[in-house]
Amino acid sequence: MAKIFSETGKKQYQVIVVGAGIAGITAAYSLARAGVEVLLLERGPYPGSKTISGGAVYSLPTRELLPDFWEEAPVERVLVDHQYWLMAERSAVKLGFTSMEMDREPYNRLSIMRAVFDRWYAKKAVLAGAELWTSCKAEDLILENCRVCGVRVSGSVQGAVRAGMVILAQGVNPLLAERAGLVKKPRASSMSLYVKEIISLPEEVINERFNLSGDRGAVIGLLGEATAGLPGTGSIYTFKEHLGINVGVGVQTLTSKKVKINELMAALKAHPVVEPLLRGGTTVEYLAHMIPEGGFNAVPPLVFDGMVIAGDSGGLVNGDHGINLAMYSGKFAAEAAIEAIRKGDYSRKVLKGYHKNLENSFVFKDMRANREVPGWFRKNPTLFVDYIGLVNSVSAHVSMVYPVSRGVKRRFIRRVVLNKQPLGKLLTDALKAVRVIR
Ligand SMILES: Cc1cc2nc3c(=O)[nH]c(=O)nc-3n(C[C@H](O)[C@H](O)[C@H](O)COP(=O)(O)OP(=O)(O)OC[C@H]3O[C@@H](n4cnc5c(N)ncnc54)[C@H](O)[C@@H]3O)c2cc1C
Repeated sequence: MAKIFSETGKKQYQVIVVGAGIAGITAAYSLARAGVEVLLLERGPYPGSKTISGGAVYSLPTRELLPDFWEEAPVERVLVDHQYWLMAERSAVKLGFTSMEMDREPYNRLSIMRAVFDRWYAKKAVLAGAELWTSCKAEDLILENCRVCGVRVSGSVQGAVRAGMVILAQGVNPLLAERAGLVKKPRASSMSLYVKEIISLPEEVINERFNLSGDRGAVIGLLGEATAGLPGTGSIYTFKEHLGINVGVGVQTLTSKKVKINELMAALKAHPVVEPLLRGGTTVEYLAHMIPEGGFNAVPPLVFDGMVIAGDSGGLVNGDHGINLAMYSGKFAAEAAIEAIRKGDYSRKVLKGYHKNLENSFVFKDMRANREVPGWFRKNPTLFVDYIGLVNSVSAHVSMVYPVSRGVKRRFIRRVVLNKQPLGKLLTDALKAVRVIR
């Protein structure tokens, strides 16, 4: 295997991975296990110190990379209760699914705190042989003859570090590739800004409020008034002794409507249906982060001479799935690097295997199946709100007991629906939805 000397004089590396998030750690772990000399760079004081997720990890895809990880990993709760709340101003239609089948191995979704999970995961990579430099920021890519062959770093180590190739996994903003002119700055229309608040509450209070026991957990997706009717989402996750509440909206919408995301969070927390869940809790962390939500059509070029881009840096997020796509892309990036080392050739031609693996896996297949969805929401910004409002108002009338016959009540409800959405519009929207979400 070819070895390239590092100018810092610290060591020689075959691969440098920028960013110890899920994608970067997976790449470094896979490479280290294959005996590759890999350097993992993290600008934060420890892996997980700068990352945010809702957050749940999806067990079935994760265990393909980390078999039976739940036995060893710092997971918080097994999510057995999945709900969606369609929120209006003072009400919510609640749709839910609870399954004790999901309380059994291999589970379905497990809540995790990234600050703890990433630290555990990075330790595995280090134990496997990866070298980790924390508080060390990659500032620029080093290019020679248009080929990436290292990075310039600052922080705990300073100078130029060289390698056969770089795996860029620096999260939502692929700044290094942008600076080198390899990719364009992501468009505002493809980015959403999220804030997350972590609220501490005693375990028994969480269990009582969410109807849980033991280490079972719940996740609630919040739509409609959760984002003041703007296209976006919110969610509540249960952890052992914390709740996580998130809300996010597209950057373009926030700018054009002059809305502040922290104000949306304050309004969501005060919503009469949400507030009782959080009551008495203490906010222990308040975080903000972007998510690349442009979908498949916004994925930039991912393969270059001497470099591949993985995880959020490559826009590999599909709806609420980011962690698994980051993990798979990290694994595929490592496989491409191993092939390049074997051939002694780090050119784009050899590294193209990375793209092929993404194409053949559920990563691109899943993203492709959803490719029209982000554009559809952009073109129909009020669609969600219109229907969520309608569903709430119908539910209110169904629940109300009027001093009239059921026939009169049914006709009244039909009139309410058709006044808000004429039959033709209802059918056209349904048809469009079927076409877009295939
Ligand atoms: C509020 C929120 C909720 C979410 N919920 C979920 C969820 O429940 N489930 C799910 O699957 N996905 C979720 N996601 C998406 C998921 O978190 C991301 O898709 C995933 O973290 C991407 O992993 P990554 O490794 O690509 O990037 P990140 O996890 O962002 O890691 C990038 C790492 O690179 C480091 N870095 C950046 N620049 C440099 C540099 N120059 N030098 C050195 N290090 C650098 C950062 O400090 C960071 O540690 C959520 C995201 C947000 C914001």
